[in-house]
Amino acid sequence: MTALVFVDSASPAGRIADPQQPQLSVLDQGVTRGDGIFETAHYRAGAVRKLDAHLSRMQASAAALEIKLPSEEALRGAVDTAVAEFLKDYDDAAQATLEAAVKIVVTRGGEDADHGVAWVMVSALSASLLEQREKGIDVILLDRGYDSTVADRAPWLLMGAKTLSYAVNMAALRHAHHQGADDVIFTSTDGLVLEGPTSSVLIASTVDGVKTLTTPILETGILPGTTQGAIFAAAEKAGWDLGYGPLEPHHLMEADAVWLVSSVRLLAPINSIDGTKISRDAELHRDLQELVDQIM
Ligand code: PLP
Repeated sequence: MTALVFVDSASPAGRIADPQQPQLSVLDQGVTRGDGIFETAHYRAGAVRKLDAHLSRMQASAAALEIKLPSEEALRGAVDTAVAEFLKDYDDAAQATLEAAVKIVVTRGGEDADHGVAWVMVSALSASLLEQREKGIDVILLDRGYDSTVADRAPWLLMGAKTLSYAVNMAALRHAHHQGADDVIFTSTDGLVLEGPTSSVLIASTVDGVKTLTTPILETGILPGTTQGAIFAAAEKAGWDLGYGPLEPHHLMEADAVWLVSSVRLLAPINSIDGTKISRDAELHRDLQELVDQIM
């Protein structure tokens, strides 16, 4: 069962609510315009992983949209309460291996409201998502329709912010499913690799015994991934070389391994791009998996 907790100024720990009951005003611009922000973090082994990075990115998103955030203390209180509420349904043995998605949402509120509504939802992971970590995924490249300099030129597009307006991203995923693929990598109109609709792109190669990880440059307007950031920090300590590309599709085809990475799905190794099989180096995957397991 999904656990739901609203951030509530009257209670530092938040207010537990029933996710099966109506809770939100139809006048909230988060609902009528997708005008709000969110974060999705990963719960595992007793902790919400890299919550600091998620809250810090949420602050950046809030600043970009000029949305008022509740205090960090209130958000953390609601997260703790929601996780505790979610865990109630599981015995100790189940809790040891349990994973969950922790979603924090903040809306703009009604037309005349001076603040929006904030809540935390904790829910179990779908079997298909877990399966992708093992089996890997087939992706297609899709044109996002913007060039790679748009973020700088048109800040009102909110390119690096995690807004509630994910209808386009979900449409891209449906388009991929209709083509028999699992996921998407967006490209810019000038031919650069960007990101997935809900993930960052990572590529790895071993050259003269040195393992190298590369991800697209942020200036292309992609979301700064907290998973990519944490993997890079761990990889640097472990002696990997790191790079920020301008990456083009041929770099993906030539790499020893390519993944879509995100907080909850973690590492989804890519098996094929636009129907062409690509290399999936098992050793690099194992090494990267170890780094991902260290992330807290
Ligand atoms: N890019 C987009 C567009 C996303 O929606 C996400 C996550 O949902 C990511 C990248 C990966 O971000 P993170 O690693 O912080 O989950």
